[in-house]
Amino acid sequence: MEIIESPREMQQWSEAARHRGETIAFVPTMGFLHEGHLSLMREGRRRASLLASSLFVNPTQFGPNEDFARYPRNFERDCEMMRTVPVDVLFAPRPEAMYPPGSQTWVETTEITRGLCGAHRPGHFRGVTTVVAKLFNIVKPHVALFGEKDYQQLRAIERMVRDLNFDIDIVPAPTVREPDGLAMSSRNAYLSPDERRKALSLSCALRAAAAAFKEGARRPADLVAAAARILESTPGVKVEYVEAVDAETLEAIDSIERPVVVAIAARVGNTRLIDNIVLNPQRPQAELN
Ligand code: AMP
Repeated sequence: MEIIESPREMQQWSEAARHRGETIAFVPTMGFLHEGHLSLMREGRRRASLLASSLFVNPTQFGPNEDFARYPRNFERDCEMMRTVPVDVLFAPRPEAMYPPGSQTWVETTEITRGLCGAHRPGHFRGVTTVVAKLFNIVKPHVALFGEKDYQQLRAIERMVRDLNFDIDIVPAPTVREPDGLAMSSRNAYLSPDERRKALSLSCALRAAAAAFKEGARRPADLVAAAARILESTPGVKVEYVEAVDAETLEAIDSIERPVVVAIAARVGNTRLIDNIVLNPQRPQAELN
């Protein structure tokens, strides 16, 4: 696996590869890899002749009181895990190379990032779409993979790619879970054993919403109530939001005629966790994967 730090060198690597007729799949990450990241990489491997990944803890997507400084990092371990896939090239820039003094250009989606996490993390998605746009211009992939775990992020990036005419296929990948249902996340490393047990309430809540849906509930408020009951009965879990919104636009709906996403953000101790499930009235039997 080649490791490249400089944006210019990365562009040259990709230009040369494209010139040779290779296709490039790309999986951007913030590192501290787990099976969720690896599943995206393996899917990327299948979809192109070369696989690129990036490791960059992007400062512009963290708020002033968020966990940028303490975000878990382990470069050597991440490289080892990428080699098992295998990843062909890792782009791992320094923050100064991504945001040199004088940087002042932002990429921002509007409606799609107004609600859910966007309402609770001002500036977060602006940081995400800006860094992903930069990474796309640096890595020059044909296809890029994003996890459904970060559902609003996936939708925002799809929107950005359409709106700004990026010539890149965005491929969504399903959420990878621990055997007991907890969605894998680098932030799970923050959880104490007691918090780890309480964190299960998120996936339990989504299962409860899916069960209500299966039994015929077709009002978003009923799905939210089913999920909220579980979360609110778990001491030590502080709900930031539970919402059931249109899975495409992320806008509020009155009744469910098209796919709906039930999305949760909650704090378990000091750790902010998110999870979601998409429910489709055409296939009401669907369960949490
Ligand atoms: P991150 O390193 O958290 O920025 O995540 C990098 C990519 O991995 C994003 O596209 C995430 O949506 C995806 N990802 C994170 N956790 C999971 C998971 N449990 N299952 C599938 N994809 C994931």
